Amino acid sequence: MSGAIVQLGDVRDQAQVEDAADVVIIGTGAAGATAARVLTEAGLDVVLVEEGAHVGPEQLRSDMWSSFKHVWRDLGFQVASGRAITPILQGRCVGGTTAINGAIIHRMPEKIWARWRDEFGLGAALPYAELERIWQILDRELFVGPAPESVLGKNNSLMRTATERLGIAGNLIQRNVKDCEGSAHCNQGCPTGRRQSMNVSYVPRAVAAGARVYATCLASSLVTRHGRSTGVVGRFRDPLTGVRGPKLVVHARRAVLLAASAIQTPLFLAKNRIGVGSGVLGKRLQAHPGTAVVGVFDAPVEMYRGATQGYESVHYWDERMKFETVAMPPELAMARLPGLGPELMRELASYAHLAVWGVQVRAEAQGSVRAGVFGGTQIEYDMTDADIRVLKLGVRRLSEMMFAAGARQVLPGVHGLPPAISSVDELAPMFDAPDDPRLFHTIAAHLFGTALMGGSAFNSVVKPSFETHDLPGLHVVDSSVFPTNMGVNPQHSICALAWLAAERLV
Ligand SMILES: Cc1cc2nc3c(=O)[nH]c(=O)nc-3n(C[C@H](O)[C@H](O)[C@H](O)COP(=O)(O)OP(=O)(O)OC[C@H]3O[C@@H](n4cnc5c(N)ncnc54)[C@H](O)[C@@H]3O)c2cc1C
Ligand code: SF4
Repeated sequence: MSGAIVQLGDVRDQAQVEDAADVVIIGTGAAGATAARVLTEAGLDVVLVEEGAHVGPEQLRSDMWSSFKHVWRDLGFQVASGRAITPILQGRCVGGTTAINGAIIHRMPEKIWARWRDEFGLGAALPYAELERIWQILDRELFVGPAPESVLGKNNSLMRTATERLGIAGNLIQRNVKDCEGSAHCNQGCPTGRRQSMNVSYVPRAVAAGARVYATCLASSLVTRHGRSTGVVGRFRDPLTGVRGPKLVVHARRAVLLAASAIQTPLFLAKNRIGVGSGVLGKRLQAHPGTAVVGVFDAPVEMYRGATQGYESVHYWDERMKFETVAMPPELAMARLPGLGPELMRELASYAHLAVWGVQVRAEAQGSVRAGVFGGTQIEYDMTDADIRVLKLGVRRLSEMMFAAGARQVLPGVHGLPPAISSVDELAPMFDAPDDPRLFHTIAAHLFGTALMGGSAFNSVVKPSFETHDLPGLHVVDSSVFPTNMGVNPQHSICALAWLAAERLV
């Protein structure tokens, strides 16, 4: 069977689309595409079903609005409610969130893996040596390497200066990019296809090996036979307008793999009444909430030149925080500048002199996700007071780093403080303020834990073999199964676990 990417426009006139494969995978992000890479090259016939569109580089622009429309979920407006409203950022397109991510590659820290072994009994199911073997292959195939000096740009090199001056550890970020041009557009979708996100790497590779991708198609239910999962039913739908197309039915001879992400996977399972008796489905949502600090420099920084995210520090990882650079386009930077109208425009004139760095917290908070009214998604997430204290310390340390690198002013982005400060002492009132998440602009983009892996159907959704306790033939292979967050960027760990799950299926 020859491979293809099929979208609504290709099948609009058909009453129903039907296909059959050995394995049907829901989702084409880090987990789904990696599983497809392994299965197709082991000789299995694979179909992928993807809610979002296949967006070519020619459709990507440098502005955020175009990418919000084409490649982000819900135009970037998906949020969690709690004491504060937290944007929950995800991609929705072929390649999933990897198509909008910062290309930062990390392996799961061994300390996290040791927790999974000791507290959750997953050591034998997920041997670290196996994961290391897979990371080596992923590194090679996805061109993982340090951000090149030639495209570092000043937003990144200034953080290096800061770490050197303060004597804290820092490093060039390992990225899955081939011949980066340093256009700082990773979050808009790499317009030159240099980042080896799944839409550029493993999806085309699986298609070349015969996989069919049904894009703009929302998977909604499972076909079952004799108590086994034997297929997927979906419907083509324009992701922007909601206009509906034909039904899709794909029969699975061997298995169905759910790789729809830690938000959509529990929704799909709940809708199909799988894992609901575990008491943990859609619960235990964990994340790395983060916020950004802006530095104003006398000399131009020009963060629009260079790798979007090229330098980081894990020096304070044990204190649950990680720092990384993040170049922001003007329309996002604007949200962090003080003033309105003419005053905001004056501030924006300093855009070329701004550096933006972020802190992400390995939060202990646990939230939940469930179907909302009228088909929406209800996410609840609230950082604990201890998490907020980590965030406060992170903002202070990032501000110190900005000043150490030579910033004239820092815009800490903390409610109740002056919009711009000239010394870290001016942050002191933040520590006297209540530990309230509304002090900060936080976002969360790394999501885990909503369909826990474990030995018992009474307190977990997925067996250590990745198959659901409730329905043989249905496997969950994304970060929903992770028992904890990790304190580092998750894509490489998600890919490695999906790889392992696919190998076991083979
Ligand atoms: C702005 C941003 C920057 C990031 N930067 C980094 C980084 O630099 N490094 C890193 O390691 N991580 C980063 N991440 C996180 C990382 O990209 C994600 O953790 C990872 O892609 C998640 O993989 P996944 O396969 O679980 O889900 P996704 O990659 O989100 O893929 C899930 C796919 O399933 C599809 N889907 C969902 N429901 C259905 C359904 N019912 N039917 C059909 N299809 C469905 C979705 O449309 C989506 O395409 C970033 C995230 C964001 C938002
Ligand atoms: S910095 Fe530009 S060229 Fe490099 S990976 Fe990101 S978007 Fe692509």
